Amino acid sequence: MLNMKKKLIAAVMLSMMTVLSPMAGSAQAAEGSSLQAAQTQEQLLPFRSAKIDHNITRIKDMTGDMIYLVEGKDKAALIDTGIGVGSLKTYVEKLTNKPLVVILTHGHVDHASGTAEFAEVYMSGKDKELFKEHTAFASRTGYIGGTNPQWAATVNTSDYRAEDNADRFKDLKAGMTFDLGGVHLDIYDVPGHTQGMKAVLLRENRALITGDGANMFTFLFGKETLGLSSYEKSLRKLQQETAGKYDKVYCSHGSGDLTVDYLARLIEDCQQIKAGKDDKVPFEFMGQKANIAYEIGPDHNRLDGGIGNIVYAPERVNE
Ligand SMILES: [Zn+2]
Ligand SMILES: [Zn+2]
Repeated sequence: MLNMKKKLIAAVMLSMMTVLSPMAGSAQAAEGSSLQAAQTQEQLLPFRSAKIDHNITRIKDMTGDMIYLVEGKDKAALIDTGIGVGSLKTYVEKLTNKPLVVILTHGHVDHASGTAEFAEVYMSGKDKELFKEHTAFASRTGYIGGTNPQWAATVNTSDYRAEDNADRFKDLKAGMTFDLGGVHLDIYDVPGHTQGMKAVLLRENRALITGDGANMFTFLFGKETLGLSSYEKSLRKLQQETAGKYDKVYCSHGSGDLTVDYLARLIEDCQQIKAGKDDKVPFEFMGQKANIAYEIGPDHNRLDGGIGNIVYAPERVNE
């Protein structure tokens, strides 16, 4: 049990490190320090937000994980719920009074931990077990502690939203459409980062939310992930299904904005890895070996100037 717990925390730390890497450096430090200053002044207000389109608000939680609020004429959708510290519901009710539906892109700790406050939640059934493990208090405290130990010390137990039971969730499946009133959200599969990973196309906004499914530092390492070849197939399928339907790509970490050709770039990365032409930067964790595809500098950007990186298990490249 202890070993399992240790492993889980370690996995969380690894996940966090990889996903946060693109924001490392001065920008992240600046963001962190301003967040801490805000905390000192206003007690616990662990959300910040900015409008990125007339009906889309990007909300960041205390660890920088991104949540998207999308509004139609009749309803609003919350895509992901962050780390589950502080009341996201209260925060969102200040932004909209429309009835809310929650759509989880996947079951990881930094996306799915704030569901307990919401009545209607959709998530892929394939991520149920992962959800249970990842949204437990121990995972959340481990994740926050790893992100910012000083901040973690200011969080009280009462600030954590309750643990939730995924059995009450509705199954999120590819092909589903959420009609918010003049605004349609179309659901697509993109398994790889997790088995149940979904992408959301905001049809009228012509924007694709890839979550962690296609990220700046896509994490493809751990028991919940697919092998690299299967991931490449997922990307190709998503690319084909959504071709011509979007002009913007939003993800869940870093700046949150990806290039419009990002799926193609990641597919190219997969091909380079399969051909053995990537940098294969060794990465060892808990006795398991992984590779970072492209060498990064101190600012965590790719040394070759390219955009996009994958951390993958070398023994699972052909899987
Ligand atoms: Zn994730
Ligand atoms: Zn994430």
